[in-house]
Amino acid sequence: MPHVDAGDPAELAATAAARFEDAFGRPAAVVAQAPGRVNLIGEHTDYNAGLVLPVALAHATYAAVAPRTDGVVRLLSSEAEPWSGTVDKLGPGAVEGWAAYAAGVLWALAQQGHDVPGMDVFVHSTVPLGAGLSSSAALECSVAVAACAVLGIELSRPVRDEVIAACIRAETEVAGAPTGGMDQTISMLAAADAALLIDFESGASTPVPLPLAEAGLRLLVTDTRVQHALVDGGYAARRTDCEEAAAALGVPSLRRATADGVASLTDERVRRRARHVVTEIARVTATVDAVGARDWQAVGPLFAASHASMRDDFEISCPELDLAVSAAVESGALGARMTGGGFGGSSIAVVPEHRLDAVVAAVDIAFAGAGFRAPQHLVAAPSGAAGLVG
Ligand code: ADP
Ligand code: MG
Repeated sequence: MPHVDAGDPAELAATAAARFEDAFGRPAAVVAQAPGRVNLIGEHTDYNAGLVLPVALAHATYAAVAPRTDGVVRLLSSEAEPWSGTVDKLGPGAVEGWAAYAAGVLWALAQQGHDVPGMDVFVHSTVPLGAGLSSSAALECSVAVAACAVLGIELSRPVRDEVIAACIRAETEVAGAPTGGMDQTISMLAAADAALLIDFESGASTPVPLPLAEAGLRLLVTDTRVQHALVDGGYAARRTDCEEAAAALGVPSLRRATADGVASLTDERVRRRARHVVTEIARVTATVDAVGARDWQAVGPLFAASHASMRDDFEISCPELDLAVSAAVESGALGARMTGGGFGGSSIAVVPEHRLDAVVAAVDIAFAGAGFRAPQHLVAAPSGAAGLVG
C-alpha cells in the first residue's frame, strides 16, 4: 500500500539543515518543526464558535532558517518553486502561491510589532500537501517558531498564542484562504498521546488523553488524493450559510442555536447547514465523553452520524470520501468519517490494530473497483506541538 511514513524527527531536521546549507552556502541558525493534524470530530464548527477535537500528527514540516542583514527573504521548499522578495513587501497582495503562507507569517509577526529581519528559509515536510491534513498550518507554524528563535523570543504560552494569531492572519489575509483557526491552534498547542478539545467560544483548549494503543486501536487516515481548494467558493459559501442561519435566529453564532430554533429556519438549505453545525457540536461533546469512559464502541455511531451529516446536510463529501468510509467500516473499522474541510481530502477511521492491513486493502480494492486513483494511507500517532528541534 502507498503509505506515508512520519519519519524520524532528528533525521528530518538534519535533512532540512543539510539542504539549507547546500542551497544557501552557510549553516542554518535553527530548525523548527510543526505538526500537521487530523480532526477526530467537529467539522466546520470552528467558525461557528463551536468545538473541535483534532490530533497532531507525527507528520510535520521542518523549517531551517537563518537571519539576513540585507532585508532579503528567500524561501525554498523540497515541494515547491523557490521564491524571493524583501521583508518590507510580504503582506497581502505582495506574495503569490505557497510562499504566501511562509512570507505571510513574517509579515504578520512584523504587524505584531516584532523587528523581523531578512531570512533564508528551507522547508521540508512529511505532511501530504492539500490532503486536508493541514500542511498549510504546519508550514506557517514551523516558519513562525523558527522566526521567533531567530528573534530571540522564547516560546512561552502567550507567545504560542501570538504565533497562532500570526499564522491565522498569514493564511487568511496573505494566502487568501479562509481558516477558522483550528489548524494553527492544534499545531502550536498539541499534547502527545492526546486530542485537543478546542472551544472557539471561550478560547479554551483542553487536552483529552487518547489511550488508543492500550485498547489495541489505531487511527488510520486515508488521503483520497482528491484535491480540495479552500480558496474556491465551497468553504466561503458554507460560512455564509451559517452566518445567515445565526442572523435569522438572532444568535451571535450557531453555538448558541437550539435544535428547535434550527427546525424553525424557513430556508431549506440554510436549515440543513445549521443542523449540521448544531448536531456536530453535540457529537464532539459525546465523543469526548466516550473517550473519557474508554467506550470506544460508542465512537462508531458518532462517526457515522458525523459523516452522514456532512454528506447530506452540509454537502461537503464526495464519492471517494464516501467510499473510503464505507469500505473501512465494512472491513472492520469501529468507525470512520471524512475529516477536514471537505470536497476531497482525507477520511479518518478508528481501527483495531489487527485489522489495519485488512482495512487498508479493502479501501484500496474498493477504489480500484470504482476506477478512482489509488489512495494514500497513514497512521496518525497523536503527537506533541511545534517547537525547535535539537
Ligand atoms: P492542507 O493544509 O490541508 O494541506 P491547504 O490547501 O490548506 O491544504 O494548503 C496546501 C498548500 O500549502 C499547498 O498547496 C502549498 O501552497 C502550501 N504548502 C504547504 N506545505 C508546503 C511545503 N512543505 N512546501 C511548499 N508549500 C507548502
Ligand atoms: Mg490548510
